[in-house]
Amino acid sequence: MALIVHKYGGTSMGSTERIRSVAQRVAKWVRAGHQMVVVPSAMSGETNRLLGLAKELNPNPDTPEALRELDAVAATGEQVSVGLLALALQAQGVPAVSYGGWQVPFETDSAFTKARISRIDDTRVRTDLAAGKVVIITGFQGIDPDGNVTTLGRGGSDTSAVAVAAAMKADECLIYTDVDGVYTTDPRVVPEARRLKTISFEEMLEMASLGSKVLQIRSVEFAGKYHVPVRVLSSFTPWDIPLDEEMQSGTLITFEEDEKMEQAVVAGIAFNRDEAKISVIGVPDKPGIAYQILGPVADANIDIDVIIQNLSHEGKTDFSFTVPRGDYQRTIAVLESQVLPSTGAARVLGDPKICKVSIVGIGMRSHVGVASKMFRTLSEEGINIQMISTSEIKTSVVIDEKYMELAVRALHKAFGLDLPTAAEG
Ligand code: ADP
Ligand code: ASP
Ligand code: MG
Repeated sequence: MALIVHKYGGTSMGSTERIRSVAQRVAKWVRAGHQMVVVPSAMSGETNRLLGLAKELNPNPDTPEALRELDAVAATGEQVSVGLLALALQAQGVPAVSYGGWQVPFETDSAFTKARISRIDDTRVRTDLAAGKVVIITGFQGIDPDGNVTTLGRGGSDTSAVAVAAAMKADECLIYTDVDGVYTTDPRVVPEARRLKTISFEEMLEMASLGSKVLQIRSVEFAGKYHVPVRVLSSFTPWDIPLDEEMQSGTLITFEEDEKMEQAVVAGIAFNRDEAKISVIGVPDKPGIAYQILGPVADANIDIDVIIQNLSHEGKTDFSFTVPRGDYQRTIAVLESQVLPSTGAARVLGDPKICKVSIVGIGMRSHVGVASKMFRTLSEEGINIQMISTSEIKTSVVIDEKYMELAVRALHKAFGLDLPTAAEG
């Protein structure tokens, strides 16, 4: 008997028919003798619908009071899912009980809309499991020290599942979704993308942080910190496929670097359309200028990503960086009201229509020329690179958003990711 956590995403929970199929799959695992904790997301489209309603009534919910209410509304999607799934299991004769994150509880900080889990008390869950029940817990939600409902950021059900698996030292955490694993890139953009049988934790962390929304980044962080065995697999296989087959399917996140004999240099390509570029033009080039520009932006709680400073010319330089697209207007306002007067810079320019494309692979550590191959590929497609950022296992470029698909497809081909061997891991 093992303790297994299943997570089902929105599409997997998208209709009563889908929920029934999830219940049948979970019941199969119960019959095989396993203790089951199940973490479903809201039914597909539901979180967007709820947030849309909230925004109709308050277009700018950015005060702590408004964000609190936004979470109270958004968390209801998962509340419906857990109850429905428990009913579906009970209807099949499987004892099941559902809980909201606040009932378990999943304790979080008070950063509404992007709360972090600080502790999970699993006492109640263990009691139910010992009594032979399937325990179904809402993804995406928790409770802060003042008893307020919080949510964990979009895609946060992945994190709920991996966090509960870590807290309970589960034997496996299976993330069921609408694709059959982690691919070399988003298969919706590149149909030739191939499924990876395994991906190293570090590569998965980079892919998630660089925009691959197949797993929320914090779920990967939890998996790494607590060495949770995580597998991403499809909920769209017939529910009654043999358990052995199911346990071998999808993509396993591995922690052993040298597990693969033939390491592909580039494991995958990620892209992110959620950033905007801002340039401060004609900045007097003197020590401390980066701090004078970026300090007020950071103080406004805006995350800064790629940064470049140009060579100075006659004592002036241009300084560019990227921020989340949702913070674009706010960043410009901070720069215009605070940074232009304090630095004497000439003006602020912005471009919200950019995209960051990244190649990721631990093989990049030991291979030279990978970045230059990336730059050559983009130049052959006539794509202008606006910014570059590198780390040991990734190279990212910022380009015009309209070239995103072209860039991803060209890079995917250039690095041989469409070839069968690339994904065989
Ligand atoms: P869920 O609702 O199950 O959480 P998500 O929509 O959050 O599902 O994540 C699954 C989606 O992630 C896929 O449908 C796919 O379009 C997208 N995706 C992005 N990058 C990748 C990748 N490298 N491999 C697989 N899927 C990816
Ligand atoms: N329902 C939430 C969302 O849409 C959480 C999740 O699905 O992971 O972001
Ligand atoms: Mg998701």
